[in-house]
Amino acid sequence: MLDQTPKEIVARSGICINPLKTCQPVGALYAALGVSRCLPHSHGSQGCVSYHRTLLTRHFKEPAVASSSSFTEGASVFGGGANLKQSVKNIFDVYNPDIIAVHTTCLSETIGDDLGSFIQELDLPEGKIVVHCNTPSYVGSHVTGFGQMVAGFVKYLAKKEEKSDQIGVFPGFVNPGDIRELRRLLALMGVSAIILPDPSDVLDGPMTGAYQMFPEGGTSLREIAALGGVKRALALGLLASKEPALALKSKCGVETDLCPQPMGVANTDAFLMRLSAISGQPIARELELERGRLLDLMLDANQYYYQKKVAIFGDPDTVIGLTTMALELGLTPKYLATGTPWEGFVTEVKTILGQYDALEGTRVKAGTDFFELHQWIKNEPVDLLIGTSYGKQIAKAEDIPMVRAGFPILDRYGHAHHPLIGYEGARRLAELTLGALMDRYDRDCADEDLDVVL
Ligand code: SF4
Repeated sequence: MLDQTPKEIVARSGICINPLKTCQPVGALYAALGVSRCLPHSHGSQGCVSYHRTLLTRHFKEPAVASSSSFTEGASVFGGGANLKQSVKNIFDVYNPDIIAVHTTCLSETIGDDLGSFIQELDLPEGKIVVHCNTPSYVGSHVTGFGQMVAGFVKYLAKKEEKSDQIGVFPGFVNPGDIRELRRLLALMGVSAIILPDPSDVLDGPMTGAYQMFPEGGTSLREIAALGGVKRALALGLLASKEPALALKSKCGVETDLCPQPMGVANTDAFLMRLSAISGQPIARELELERGRLLDLMLDANQYYYQKKVAIFGDPDTVIGLTTMALELGLTPKYLATGTPWEGFVTEVKTILGQYDALEGTRVKAGTDFFELHQWIKNEPVDLLIGTSYGKQIAKAEDIPMVRAGFPILDRYGHAHHPLIGYEGARRLAELTLGALMDRYDRDCADEDLDVVL
């Protein structure tokens, strides 16, 4: 497995080997599934959406539904306007969603289809809505595609209204389990919020024995409209939620705080303090106790984390959050990598490392791939990998324990139900990390050192 990866690192451009990201429409499709009775629609060929649906279905272990404009040679040459028109008619006739969220693909972007004009010219059934965003995949990644789709909903649907007591939350590219944790934190803090998007109950729905084309979850259209009147918004994830935050400010004048994902102790503290400042509510006692239990676990096990070298890879917002968490545990982040080409990632991560005096000997890179990450590890190994499923090939090749976190995780079940955010998410990550390190110690130690009590 990966035996041919050379140690010698040669500068290269224009070629990616084992990408550490996927394409923009994947994120756009995921975001659209977090809106109530919404059908995501891919404006391109069937092959694209087939891949996007498969990837999301494999991560969530739930069907990720979406339709396609089904480009053939004709649409590729003459434009896909007629395809979109026919698709929209068929979708409302056959599936009857309340809204269709269209995203573009490389092909429709390259031929220059103007989705805004196409949509204006559609003859829609009464009360039905079509929105769109642009997601060519030769720029950005699934994370920016996610942000573009959420911003698309805001641009089309948010209404400048009288200020309400609610706040808005853009949760970023996280799992349904994170959204449930977010809801719990908001409830404990006594804060009423509109969360956009909300894939919980859509991509982690219960087994009922009956298929529902549109499960009960998702942000409602009424809630998206009301986002324009919230007293303030929190945008979680510096990259994924940046575009929605800008769109809400530009369309409705709502001020938004752009924050890192509340992963780890310090980030969760900052998030809750921000909620407290906005709402005027004190930090809930239950959360203080939760925080205390987390710190207790971290202290108890500190000797097992301390100075263990770790490579963390995945989406920028996730890696930024996990870097903070790793430093808090006492781990030594050695390689921090994302495939998304966003230099803000490097700046953010280096700032965090600087706060812990941990910059020396650490590699931080955006727009990189698994091949390069593997080369770094071959030259100087680490004790632990934290990241997405594709890292398992490096883990096997170099015999390194691995903790799965982020998107996509294709080779495990149940992960999307658990949060990475909040004290609960940090506690889970602390436990998974500790388990991986201690399992490795038990595997490798001499028989006389195999203690039952540690
Ligand atoms: S052609 Fe573009 S949009 Fe389609 S799957 Fe490939 S990268 Fe994604």
